[in-house]
Amino acid sequence: METIALGRPTGFHDAYLFDLDGTIYLGEDLLPGARRLIEELRGRDIPVRFLSNNPTKAPAQYAEKLARLGLPTPIGDIANTVATMTTWLTTNHPDAVVFPIAERPLIEAFEAAGIAMSEDPDEIDIVVASYDRGFEYRKLQIAFDAIWFHKRAFLVATNPDRYCPFPGGRGEPDCAAVVAAIEACTGTTCRQVVGKPDASMVAQALAGLDVDPTRCVMVGDRLGTDIELAHRAGMASALVLTGDSTLDDVSALPEDRRPTYIVESIDQLIPEPATVSSR
Ligand SMILES: [Mg+2]
Repeated sequence: METIALGRPTGFHDAYLFDLDGTIYLGEDLLPGARRLIEELRGRDIPVRFLSNNPTKAPAQYAEKLARLGLPTPIGDIANTVATMTTWLTTNHPDAVVFPIAERPLIEAFEAAGIAMSEDPDEIDIVVASYDRGFEYRKLQIAFDAIWFHKRAFLVATNPDRYCPFPGGRGEPDCAAVVAAIEACTGTTCRQVVGKPDASMVAQALAGLDVDPTRCVMVGDRLGTDIELAHRAGMASALVLTGDSTLDDVSALPEDRRPTYIVESIDQLIPEPATVSSR
């Protein structure tokens, strides 16, 4: 197998976007080097933003968690699929009746945005699949009836992740499992996924910053979401080997889809001091 080299940056980027699970923390622990890197960037007044595909928490809950782990962060610096899905619906389908297969934070965001919701398959225009630990046969039946029997609803999803990583190599089935269940019984295809790697996440994360995405870097642990997002948005990318993707996964990708940098510890994204050249 081809050897993939680790690679570090030689200078700072204009802004840094970070995935959270598997990149900044795992479970209730910051990953090694995360605090050092974030404090170094903030000390230099370089914008830092966090983005997560996980729709089971609102941005405020991420802010609380980061503060608890010792990285106090303004809510506005955190973007996730609760916000992107709400924005996508209110922008593109403001009058649609939605059936969210979702936990409270997404439902509460829909309520706050005035999005109409129903469990009556005869009224539903859009089924929103997400990472929902309350997923059950009853919800699948409603989605099935709305899409297959009444032939009126279509399917969208918050994020494409197969599972959410947990400490010790464990995890929880994520949104892809819910999408697959609905697709399997209805024969439909999910029409829109708003989480990473959809570039709408970058637009949301960089909103209000006067930066050129091509001078920014996206840092994450997943090739298919974090690194692919950077590719689609024209950004540099950094894969940190503390979560999902491995060097073998990188070598399986075509060269133009590989990360700009690969590091074992996230603080290796701090540029190396210039070496003194010998004459
Ligand atoms: Mg991750």
